[in-house]
Amino acid sequence: MVPTSPAPQEIPSGRQPSPHRRPAPEPGHRTPEERERGSEREVTAEPAPPVRPPLPPAPAWELGGITVHRIDEVALPPQTGPWLLPSATPEVVDHTPWLRPDFADGSGVLRLSSHTFACTVGDLRVLIDTGIGNGKTRANPAWHGLRTDYLARLEAAGFPPDRVDLVLLTHLHTDHVGWNTRADGDDWRPTFPRARHVTSRREWEHWSTAELDDARRQMFRDSVHPVRDAGQLDLVDVPAEGTTIAPGIRLLPTPGHTPGHIAVELRGRTRTAVITGDCVHHPVQLGHPTLGSCVDTDPAQAVATRRALLDSLAGTDTLLLGTHFPPPTAGVVRTQGAAYRLIPAPGHPAPATATGTRA
Ligand SMILES: [Zn+2]
Repeated sequence: MVPTSPAPQEIPSGRQPSPHRRPAPEPGHRTPEERERGSEREVTAEPAPPVRPPLPPAPAWELGGITVHRIDEVALPPQTGPWLLPSATPEVVDHTPWLRPDFADGSGVLRLSSHTFACTVGDLRVLIDTGIGNGKTRANPAWHGLRTDYLARLEAAGFPPDRVDLVLLTHLHTDHVGWNTRADGDDWRPTFPRARHVTSRREWEHWSTAELDDARRQMFRDSVHPVRDAGQLDLVDVPAEGTTIAPGIRLLPTPGHTPGHIAVELRGRTRTAVITGDCVHHPVQLGHPTLGSCVDTDPAQAVATRRALLDSLAGTDTLLLGTHFPPPTAGVVRTQGAAYRLIPAPGHPAPATATGTRA
């Protein structure tokens, strides 16, 4: 079903006594929980826990035997667009009017989101990417020390962590591997204890031999190595034509953003969907396929990959599901002049599942 592979190579993790240990808090540091509670001097009684509003239903797309759920983590702040896609200026947005109102605001600021996708394919519960994660020490303030209800959303959609079978990682960047692990005391443990975690061998080998800065080293330590050390990481060779890893699930090589980046094709009885990962960050890149992100490892390859993917989808019924596309997140691709546009295809609230706890 899912190919296994030899133990992956070591990614340098520095001289840490415990590679998964969380950094010690600074003197005087208080955890978010402590800050919320206040010190004993500040309060005399524990406040009653707040009543949590019910989670809104997760949007989902039906492919015929496969339902793809979007699992929201966090909307990314407005400064994300100018940093990530610096050429996507307000003037470019003005020249791409179909981006408004969903994908850009009135000022031309791009909307971006962090979410993942979850689906059941045959008897496999599958997660595609794992977002930023909670409580991680990160240089990017928008990703640092998050406390989201992502896991509750995942469970409400029918995916309790201990029932996830397969985690597909489009690439090994911070905002795609975060929920691979969660804090357990001072350590980071796999969030999905039964799941095989799959990424491309090319991706692993790139980062295994790259010179890592401290931030990336930390990310591998807290979010990738614990999964590898638990024997849950599988590396897959992804040839040019793609590779089927389970009936209905094909990995497509989409290099450029990172060398071993993959997109994920899901083939249902009635419809096919492609999940972008970061080979397309935002719908503005349909209108302007040469517009790259500041973190593409090979910008020219990223453009060629994006054009080839969009060309293969243009005029078809295949759903393009964007890993950072804001709601409505999905659409079909149509040509427009020398470029493309996205015709939105909003998801529908998915019915509660036997394992879901929504409502
Ligand atoms: Zn990303």
